[in-house]
Amino acid sequence: MTYNKKSIEDINVSGKKVLVRCDFNVPLKDGVITSDKRIVEAIPTIKYLLDNNAAVILCSHMGKPKGEVNMKYTLAPVAARLTELLGQDVKLAPNTIGDEAKKMAAELKCGQAMLLENTRFDKREEANDPEFAKELASMAEIFVNDAFGAAHRAHASTAGVAMYGGLPAVCGYLIQKEIGVMGKALSDPKRPFVAILGGAKVSDKINVINNLLDKCDTIIIGGGMAYTFFKALGSSVGTSICEYDKLDLAKGILEKAKANKVNFLLPVDNTIGREYKEDTTFMRIYSDSIPDGWMGLDIGKTTQELYAKSIEGAGTVVWNGPMGVSEWPNFAAGTNAVAKAVAESGAISIIGGGDSAAAVEKLGYADKMTHVSTGGGASLEFLEGKELPGIACLQDK
Ligand code: AMP
Repeated sequence: MTYNKKSIEDINVSGKKVLVRCDFNVPLKDGVITSDKRIVEAIPTIKYLLDNNAAVILCSHMGKPKGEVNMKYTLAPVAARLTELLGQDVKLAPNTIGDEAKKMAAELKCGQAMLLENTRFDKREEANDPEFAKELASMAEIFVNDAFGAAHRAHASTAGVAMYGGLPAVCGYLIQKEIGVMGKALSDPKRPFVAILGGAKVSDKINVINNLLDKCDTIIIGGGMAYTFFKALGSSVGTSICEYDKLDLAKGILEKAKANKVNFLLPVDNTIGREYKEDTTFMRIYSDSIPDGWMGLDIGKTTQELYAKSIEGAGTVVWNGPMGVSEWPNFAAGTNAVAKAVAESGAISIIGGGDSAAAVEKLGYADKMTHVSTGGGASLEFLEGKELPGIACLQDK
């Protein structure tokens, strides 16, 4: 999917009230933000609008309050962090489309920013309710979507405002960057084009694998999904996570890879554990068959070296999903080795959100990557070649 959407620079924002959908769904622990990446990534768009004399009404969801007001998911910590990052006051409205929010929006002056309370405090948000979308739109004259992490959802504040609100709708810098980098990689990649896919299940990544089999030169497989391929190839998998009902699917992928002449790499050695537990007994086996009573929890050292070699010569690398249970130190070596190889490759490197992005950030490699996506689900759907409703609804150039 390639998009050519109007951005904030293609529209006159001066003197206008601008509703900006951001993805401020940041991780919190005891009410404290543990990673402000998504807020930081939204700042260029907000700054541009403020510097160009717009009055900026920000909105976002946070967590899963299931359509009810639940102050565990208030955006108050986000408003405080925005105030710090922008160096100017960002007041939080006590609700999303209530009288108080509308009054604050009406009184907002150009050069000022405010934040509406969590859009998911109202069940009409996720239902993409036209009336809710119109109420949101009524506060502004322009709609900017910059919430890449929520762009795969057709909700009232992502797609609804553009669909039903009657406002000019354009994208912000973050969405522009995400679709620009990933779109170029998929439509015109610098070769060799290597995709690294890991994570728990083949079924979660099947559409991505299928789409990438038409575009990539090499596909590297790691994580739990490797064991479904092992089983499909007749190897034993012990008690590894394995989708026994997806073996035909896995065989189909292996055949397509052969037909398309895609170099399809599976682990040749493994780190295995007795139980699915952080402190379980573990060992390395120099084989692609897992003994009875053991489960594969990470790729082995030889595999790490083989994968690193393939990554070393790449022109473009797209990576989504860990190579093992990377949350647990004993099974993080494979994911860490791949992160290092991608960082040192000099390739155009795109890291899908979620666990792989977390690993790259934790290891301090984020700056070495061309792009670390802010959206796990959204980047996956983009890589599947699916249309993202939060982007499709914006005005074309
Ligand atoms: P995903 O969300 O599909 O990218 O999957 C990420 C999850 O896959 C992480 O929570 C990992 O712990 C898990 N995972 C990776 N490798 C394995 C494995 N070999 N066995 C079980 N779970 C795994």
